[in-house]
Amino acid sequence: MPTPSPGDDGDERCGLLPSPVRAGSGSAGLRPWAALSALARSPEAVFGCAPQSTIGRVTGWQEIGDRVFVRRYVFYDQNIGVVLGDDACLVIDTRISHRQAEEIKAHLRELTPLPVALVVNTHGHSDHAFGNRVFRPAPIIGHEGCVRFLDDTGEAQRAAAMANLPELAADLAEVELDPPDRTFSEHASADVSGRRVELRFLGRGHTDHDIVVVVPDAGVVFAGDLLENGATPYFGDGFPLDWPATAEALVAVIGDGVVAPGHGDVADRRFAEEQLDAFRAVAALAKEVHVGARTLDEAIVAAPFPAADAREPLERALAQLRGELDRA
Ligand SMILES: [Zn+2]
Repeated sequence: MPTPSPGDDGDERCGLLPSPVRAGSGSAGLRPWAALSALARSPEAVFGCAPQSTIGRVTGWQEIGDRVFVRRYVFYDQNIGVVLGDDACLVIDTRISHRQAEEIKAHLRELTPLPVALVVNTHGHSDHAFGNRVFRPAPIIGHEGCVRFLDDTGEAQRAAAMANLPELAADLAEVELDPPDRTFSEHASADVSGRRVELRFLGRGHTDHDIVVVVPDAGVVFAGDLLENGATPYFGDGFPLDWPATAEALVAVIGDGVVAPGHGDVADRRFAEEQLDAFRAVAALAKEVHVGARTLDEAIVAAPFPAADAREPLERALAQLRGELDRA
């Protein structure tokens, strides 16, 4: 491992650019913004209620594939990924504020002296994209829907986060929103200083614009919040009827490799298959409720998530069945 560089990182540069490939249209889902209030009920919000003293406590860098690392932060139990190339590196997701992003950069210097050539946003939720500004001038890449999502909801997300995380309100107020400047709709690849990294949109799920990051030569997939280990995935902006097919595609992409979820333990395909089963169950239960074969309360009891978490996925699926999530 290279010797950590203790100096500042003013030498960071954007020497390596991705080559986005447009291949058909992206997703068309529209945001029901009332759902932002549901952040208060989300697992993320629960984690977000952790006392200030836990913020920034970390478990260190974990190498989950050849020169592919995850650092797991106590705040939101979030995974930040790094792929090292020969002369530069790629960072996956930027955390919820410039301060948290600065923490990533400080921790990165413990890992490598290499500059950050490219940043990926797996999606536009605050904890994945609000730290973007700190990594400039590096290019930031995400799904085209990620830009739209941040443009449309960034300020609402900021307000919701400030309300739910009063200890971070001052930091959140200072965040300069800085959406990805490189986008794609279906697939893109990037040359990270001699290493090929694939970015793929597999369909709607946790949001309408989640992407996964594949490092083929290491057998590693970063799944963003399409998978969440140890807590109920967040459905507040989700598309529960689409999520099973998206997760099925993700399972195929993972293959025999390693998967880093957006939050929680790094795992393998079996974990992804279990979560796929849960997504299928939610969709099936919602369809039963929709046709009157079950009540919503019965479905909540039968759902694969704790009852306190199960209402939102089912209500979201029912809204989708009623066609409410695709209306302008
Ligand atoms: Zn998310």
